[in-house]
Amino acid sequence: MSKPKVVVLGAGYAGLVATRRLTQKLSADEAEIVLINKHNYHYESTWLHEVAAGTINPNQARFMLTDAVNPKRVRLIYDTVTEVNRDEQRVILDNSEVSYDYLVFALGFVSNTFGIPGMDEHAFAITDIDSSRHIAEHIEYQFAQYSTDENKNDDQLTILVGGGGFTGIEFVGELAEKVPELCQKYDIDRSKARIINVEAAPSILPVFDDDLVSYAKKALEDRGVEFRIGAPIKECTEEGFIVGDDKELIKAGTVVWTGGVTGNPVLAKSGYELFKGKVNVGPDLRPEGEENVFILGDCSWTLDQETGRPYPPTGQLATQEGAQVAENIAALINNQPIQDFVYSNKGTVASLGLSDGIGNVLNGNKLRGKSAAAMKKVVDDRSLFLVGGPKVLLKKGKFRPF
Ligand code: FAD
Ligand code: NAD
Repeated sequence: MSKPKVVVLGAGYAGLVATRRLTQKLSADEAEIVLINKHNYHYESTWLHEVAAGTINPNQARFMLTDAVNPKRVRLIYDTVTEVNRDEQRVILDNSEVSYDYLVFALGFVSNTFGIPGMDEHAFAITDIDSSRHIAEHIEYQFAQYSTDENKNDDQLTILVGGGGFTGIEFVGELAEKVPELCQKYDIDRSKARIINVEAAPSILPVFDDDLVSYAKKALEDRGVEFRIGAPIKECTEEGFIVGDDKELIKAGTVVWTGGVTGNPVLAKSGYELFKGKVNVGPDLRPEGEENVFILGDCSWTLDQETGRPYPPTGQLATQEGAQVAENIAALINNQPIQDFVYSNKGTVASLGLSDGIGNVLNGNKLRGKSAAAMKKVVDDRSLFLVGGPKVLLKKGKFRPF
């Protein structure tokens, strides 16, 4: 009898951790393992706001897949998944097709603009290395062009960020580092460059207590970030955002949407029933009616059994799901019982630039300032270790002092 084929879609947090763990759990005689990813590298999605602001080099946030998995053990396919034919157990790629016995669906997130007119056309989004690098290049180009322009328009130096959730706030924190550097490089008066965050809700970062939110807001304001809170963006045009019921136009040279994410559209193309863009999975991370498919990370909703609410989509969750699914696939192949997924929340930290941050960590402890920033680097390095191993951590880790 031929050995079972396990196919993993996506080399992000969930997919890469699942692949690495599968190679530890199953010998080459027990299963064939295939990892399919758009690129030949993994990127740390959780570092993309830094790439987008230009505070880190894109190469620091990525590493080659061959640095993390042995290509003699795992068949690596660099191609784009377009659809999964679930009836025939085949994955359709741009350039070929691959059959599977077990499937791990971990294709991550895309930006969600909620149908806001003009947002897809006129705003940038932080979704992968290329889109993030493009934002950093665009911002620098605005400053360079302004510096040589005879008829200067100060709006060109405004950076508008739509959405004051984690991504939006961490991004403006990085911009507060980068903008003074760009002003110095291009001989521009710092007061001419504006960073504006626009948030519809009454507060930024609703996950945190009021005192941490106030700390974050003031820390960013002190470094030149402006906030428009309780200001829903109604439309995005070539010139900027149209905000609120009175349809005020805020003009900018750079417009970035960080107002939300949703699951990969390949889910819909593969015929899954979606809830807010993702698939509901059971406690074993399988969608209803499929014994050999696991949907992980930002592609699924996993319910917290205690509260009955889905866990927020995070790298932390995706990493833990990847590890559990590898255990369960190995168990299925060896005719052993499988275990339900149990999430272990290690806390939440948001950076506010290089040396500032806020966080809730284990035992309900709150962090702010340098201690939170240091904790964020520990979290980032731990994540790098889990997805890439010790060699990748040594090459790409965040060891710089601040
Ligand atoms: P991803 O890590 O996004 O991986 C998906 C993989 O699939 C990628 O390699 C992608 O290239 C590949 N792929 C996509 N489509 C295709 C296709 N059609 N064919 C082939 N390959 C494809 N979470 C935290 O816990 N902590 C944080 O500090 C944090 N910071 C964040 C900062 C930013 C700027 C953003 C945007 C998110 C952040 N998150 C954070 C959330 C976290 O990044 C996601 O929840 C996490 O990446 C989800 O992991 P995943 O494995 O589902 O998908
Ligand atoms: P989000 O959904 O968490 O936040 C989006 C924000 O945009 C919300 O505050 C929302 O009110 C606002 N918004 C939506 N529509 C708007 C409109 N029309 N006008 C103005 N504001 C609008 O999205 P995110 O920040 O991209 O985060 C996505 C996921 O990634 C979350 O689960 C988050 O926990 C995770 N993440 C975690 C970290 C971290 O742990 N440090 C960092 C980044 C992202």
